[in-house]
Amino acid sequence: MTQPPSIPVSALRPTVDLNSAGAAMYALIAQLYPVCRSITGNGFRTTLDTLRQHIPLTVYEVPSGTPVFDWTVPKEWNITDAYVKNSKGERVIDFQRSNLHVVNYSVPVRTTMTLDELKPHLFTLPEYPDWIPYRTSYYRETWGFCLSHNQLLNLPEDTYEVCIDSSLADGSLTYAECYLPGDSDEEVLISCHACHPSLCNDNLSGVALATFLAKTLQSVSRRYSYRFLFIPGTIGSITWLCRNEAQVDRIKHGLVITCVGDAGQPTYKRSRRGNAGIDRAVENVFRFSGNGDRIMDFFPYGYDERQYCSPGFNLPVGCFMRSQHGTFPEYHTSADNLEFVQPAYLADSFDKCLAIVDVLENNRRYVNQNPKGEPQLGKRGLYGAIGGRSDQEINQMALLWVLNLSDGDHDLLDISNRSGLRFELIRNAARLLVEHDLLRPVP
Ligand code: ZN
Repeated sequence: MTQPPSIPVSALRPTVDLNSAGAAMYALIAQLYPVCRSITGNGFRTTLDTLRQHIPLTVYEVPSGTPVFDWTVPKEWNITDAYVKNSKGERVIDFQRSNLHVVNYSVPVRTTMTLDELKPHLFTLPEYPDWIPYRTSYYRETWGFCLSHNQLLNLPEDTYEVCIDSSLADGSLTYAECYLPGDSDEEVLISCHACHPSLCNDNLSGVALATFLAKTLQSVSRRYSYRFLFIPGTIGSITWLCRNEAQVDRIKHGLVITCVGDAGQPTYKRSRRGNAGIDRAVENVFRFSGNGDRIMDFFPYGYDERQYCSPGFNLPVGCFMRSQHGTFPEYHTSADNLEFVQPAYLADSFDKCLAIVDVLENNRRYVNQNPKGEPQLGKRGLYGAIGGRSDQEINQMALLWVLNLSDGDHDLLDISNRSGLRFELIRNAARLLVEHDLLRPVP
């Protein structure tokens, strides 16, 4: 048995080596990159097997045909090979070179056809002629190949042999949870989609960050319980919500994590509520990180926050990302590769998430136990000692702000925002005042 963790996340964060965390997340992305994932099938399961080497996972299989709200769990898709061969028997389009070459969820095909007959099944990006687009056809049974536009221009008239060795049959939809119990049953939900094939930023970066966040939080004491979801996009969150509807009230804060490995600035999309605890926490972290972060209001497009924030749930779930989906040219193309994501950006995103968790874990309301006039800090050793406690960044102003605003109404985030002092200074000041019986937490 492992020892119960006792270090709080706030004490852990300064000790995390961000360089090695970035390198480890990048290595996990590189390991998962070649796998052909989809919303169902063995590629998704293989991915979970890899994640299980880092964190404990409970895997769920939901049978094809299961109704989930207005949707139905689809048939399971698997693929072993696919190609287009010219009349000399050469593979001119080859799934073995990139799994993006096949339209994801293509039905099996084995035929021969002319170039003109083949062309309606070929997809390219003329504006980026060297890149392969990523295309899916989950809910319409069809088939196709994706290739670079230059590759298409070089295809001569010929008779082509077309093979997609796939299967689309009753099976199941797979997803996984990593649950880390805390002092409270109240939960923080961290969700990422893991259904994209060889694409790095969208969304192996989110998978890697969520995995290492879970791995890190395993070793600290937790006020909240944490539930990490590794699900296929859209159908996965709808399926999860349908199966867990009775328990969603436990979710007090949530984040969808996606596109967190590129050079773009950290970006947060608010929950539908707009002023939930998670929204305030991220806004505070961004305010003090001082590197041009961006916050946007909720809109009903994007990733699984669309489902968590649907009106029947309206959960306090925001979305943490760097470059926003659809706004960078590499999005959903072969250029979203191992060069597009970098360890340093993964590390920065990871650090932001640790800071957000620190705020969630430590934000509380307190009541000043000596509210009539300022308490005499000097006689408690808090006045002169303040500057000298080199192990904690406590300063005079933080103590005074916490004492003044701890009226039971303002929480520590309010105090940080109003004072302009970083949350950790305010949090440390509150801790010190509690130790000296000058502050009592509101239950
Ligand atoms: Zn995507």
